[in-house]
Amino acid sequence: MSLRSLDPRAPWVISTHDLGRRPGSMRTLAPTLPAPVDLAVGMIGVPKDADVELDIRLEAVMEGVLVTGTAQAPLTGECSRCLAPLTSEIEVDFQELYFYSAEDAGEDDLLLDGELLDLEPVFRDAVVLALPLSPVCGEDCPGLCAECGVRLAEAGPDHRHETADPRWAALQGLVVEQEDDQEG
Ligand SMILES: [Zn+2]
Ligand SMILES: [Zn+2]
Repeated sequence: MSLRSLDPRAPWVISTHDLGRRPGSMRTLAPTLPAPVDLAVGMIGVPKDADVELDIRLEAVMEGVLVTGTAQAPLTGECSRCLAPLTSEIEVDFQELYFYSAEDAGEDDLLLDGELLDLEPVFRDAVVLALPLSPVCGEDCPGLCAECGVRLAEAGPDHRHETADPRWAALQGLVVEQEDDQEG
């Protein structure tokens, strides 16, 4: 439960002035807002100030304002297998009831500050839950060579290291023979 007063000029602070308090009244918004800072988990996140496209429905209910929405945001990060930079995007859904009065609200509930509500914590929670823990540049990313650390996708399928192990040498000989058979 948050009792801090909101800055009406902050981008993620939404005014419910036009909505009024009569239960059942509704209003939709489709703002594009700058992504807040530090919105990342591990190797991927939404870059600060990137455009977040929102579709929001505000609905007055008895206890407060119910906010339902979706948000689309770009992602930047690193592939967890090959460490290459990657870009992607994320779409999240959220729903939150902002209470008029602290008396009705529980510990973790959000409150309206007069006619204002802060959408940022709701968006932030939705994104953090939806971010992939192990982002990949592609589902079939082969990762890095365990021997030399080169990106296998760039090095190509023939990338291998000379090995002194005679069992490997024998196996390689076997493969070559099979290919010869197919050609002949
Ligand atoms: Zn990769
Ligand atoms: Zn290698």
